[in-house]
Amino acid sequence: MFQKILIANRGEIALRVLRACKELGIQTVVVHSTADADAMHVRLADESVCIGPPPSRDSYLNIHQIVAACEITGADAVHPGYGFLSENAKFADILAAHNITFIGPTGDHIRIMGDKIEAKRTAKRLGIPVVPGSDGAVTEDKEAKRIAAAIGYPVIIKASAGGGGRGMKVAHSEADLEVALQTARSEAGAAFGDDAVYIEKYLQKPRHIEVQVFGDGAGRGVHFGERDCSLQRRHQKVWEEAPSPALNAEERAHIGGVCARAIADLGYSGAGTIEFLYEDGEFYFIEMNTRLQVEHPVTEAITGIDLVHEQIRVASGGGLSVRQEDIRFHGHAIECRINAEDPRSFTPSPGTITHFHTPGGLGIRVDSGVYSGYKIPPYYDSLIGKLIVHGRNRVECMMRLRRALDEFVVDGIKTTLPLFRDLVGNADIANGDYDIHWLEKYLAEGE
Ligand code: ADP
Repeated sequence: MFQKILIANRGEIALRVLRACKELGIQTVVVHSTADADAMHVRLADESVCIGPPPSRDSYLNIHQIVAACEITGADAVHPGYGFLSENAKFADILAAHNITFIGPTGDHIRIMGDKIEAKRTAKRLGIPVVPGSDGAVTEDKEAKRIAAAIGYPVIIKASAGGGGRGMKVAHSEADLEVALQTARSEAGAAFGDDAVYIEKYLQKPRHIEVQVFGDGAGRGVHFGERDCSLQRRHQKVWEEAPSPALNAEERAHIGGVCARAIADLGYSGAGTIEFLYEDGEFYFIEMNTRLQVEHPVTEAITGIDLVHEQIRVASGGGLSVRQEDIRFHGHAIECRINAEDPRSFTPSPGTITHFHTPGGLGIRVDSGVYSGYKIPPYYDSLIGKLIVHGRNRVECMMRLRRALDEFVVDGIKTTLPLFRDLVGNADIANGDYDIHWLEKYLAEGE
């Protein structure tokens, strides 16, 4: 087991990882920018190292500074959290070259899944169903037209290097296609330094359903069931639940089995998420994330298993603590992402939190790094906390969520809490009857 883990992240996820390390009796080092000197994870860690000024590229994305911090403190492993360097293959390789364990898959597996075209090709080879579309990158407009006509409009053009919901364009007819291709290419080139794009059928009313998987790196793969993340705004998840209200036990076991076998065949190590769109009873692979997800707590709630503990165990060579048959699902869990944003316009609302009070009681978990008097810096993601609620079934979970949202107080800044208070009272949400476009339509109607 590791002696000392360096946490290369900030905010709620840095604290989340720190908690797991403490439970396992592992010393912690955190790195932080000058803007985060007062952050909770810095206060609670055994050691901290300031690695640079506020902009992420100079601090949380600064590989050399982070490796130096490992060497100075004698950390033997790095947990990257999500975002920042968590899916950076070069970072994983550099750490390996310094004999520091990256708590995650190999650089090669990150590389394959980080290139969405390669990821799709690999998924197909491993027997995972994919969205119909081009076999690889599309460079010629003529070829694009032929593929689009064959799969049928509407189609979506996606950047191979895309992520975070960016770099996607929908074309509803051949007339739209040329412009969509051009814009997608130039946006991808500017945002990701790679203008390769590919074409997929644009599904009109799918749900976003993703499977949590784990590999032990030695040919074993397991799944921890699915999460439904269909409630999205601008392709960004807002509310996540487990299990999906749309799947039955048979479908769950089927898709979980397909994913677990694929992970085993790949020789994958650590946590991963295989993302699908689900429409009319069919699953279509869209991408795989090779890291812990923001929404992992809903899976922890229904399985009772600490996924960060498992990540650390696997990375240290101790293997998984569970076999597939040990993973059982209990009840229902929902996560609300609480952002420091205006609940209508979604413009960021940094500033000082004058009062912060979190709900409690049975089935309530709040993962957050903020506190009363904390000043939210304007440089980073606006996620300030996650409310995760668990109940014996979805109805109980929703009842509990409603009262937890009533108890939650965040004063001094605007947050997305009012949006969730509206959503828990909505009939479609109560019935679990929504797809990936539901939230955008709901928000547009309210304007
Ligand atoms: P990113 O890596 O940027 O998150 P994804 O490929 O995971 O991109 O897609 C993000 C979201 O975009 C999905 O959850 C879904 O809402 C939408 N999307 C992606 N591909 C399609 C598709 N083929 N049809 C319809 N919607 C799609």
